Amino acid sequence: MTSIPDITLNNGQTIPQFGFGVFQIEPKDTAAAVSTALEAGYRHIDTAEMYGNEAEVGEAIARSDLDRGEVFVTSKLDNDAHEPDDARHAFDATLKALGTDYVDLFLIHWPLPARYGGDFVQTWRALEEFYREGRARSIGVSNFQPHHLRRLHGETDIIPAVNQIEVHPYLTQDDVRAFCAGHQIAIEAWSPLGQGSVLDDPAVRSVAERAGKTPAQVVLRWHIQRGDIVFPKSVSPERVKSNFEIFDFSLDGDEMTAITGLDRGEAGRTGPNPDEFDYIPDK
Ligand code: NAD
Repeated sequence: MTSIPDITLNNGQTIPQFGFGVFQIEPKDTAAAVSTALEAGYRHIDTAEMYGNEAEVGEAIARSDLDRGEVFVTSKLDNDAHEPDDARHAFDATLKALGTDYVDLFLIHWPLPARYGGDFVQTWRALEEFYREGRARSIGVSNFQPHHLRRLHGETDIIPAVNQIEVHPYLTQDDVRAFCAGHQIAIEAWSPLGQGSVLDDPAVRSVAERAGKTPAQVVLRWHIQRGDIVFPKSVSPERVKSNFEIFDFSLDGDEMTAITGLDRGEAGRTGPNPDEFDYIPDK
């Protein structure tokens, strides 16, 4: 079976560079999709309380013949639980839903600078507790801009292990990636395929034709060669399997440059701007 490269995080823990994301997979479809991914060789699952499918991720892992230690599991704190006490309750609920006594990685899902008086530092301190207790083997953030990260750096003890941000050929995020590289924060690229939007791009298609690969495989390979961590989502078993087949070829410098050159800056975002996003779920 193909072996997935590991990335070593700033605390010495390792994370498989390639995994499976379950955003927008209905709870009723999640266990089957995760089982397909585990059977195909994926060993890293990215979920979140906000996705409403943590229990089904846990169910698929429990049903597999893999030990808990063989699967890297990430979840994220929901936007309604940034007050430290709420974060503690939410984290307990996440572990319970997943049916495990630890997660490999736990993230603040969004910085929400327009909520909670802009105080994501108190929230980060709650994650530091989970880390010290060993219930989160690594902790990190998602959708943090360099100025948010600078605040954590100045005011807290632990540097986030990862920053999970939107990255794909239309939004290459070179500034945030460079800042994180300089602070030993690994980048996880969410919506690595731009939710499918980049797959019809003529430049991507032409690289794919030359490589004898699909556009999705070429884009995922581009992320891997840039050193980012990726976890594409699909509920189609064929795509789940083919997205994994990216470790038997490589892109040359010109091909990498052609894809990176598709960047559209802010206009390339498919998701919300982290400096403005203030969504709180209504539960
Ligand atoms: P993605 O870029 O992985 O695209 C998923 C879509 O692309 C699928 O719905 C499917 O339609 C299409 N697709 C997948 N494989 C394909 C293939 N081989 N050929 C053609 N089309 C294909 O988008 P995503 O799901 O938004 O992102 C991946 C993961 O990132 C999520 O599941 C989630 O875990 C994470 N994420 C995190 C955040 C965050 O705020 N932290 C936000 C969005 C996503």
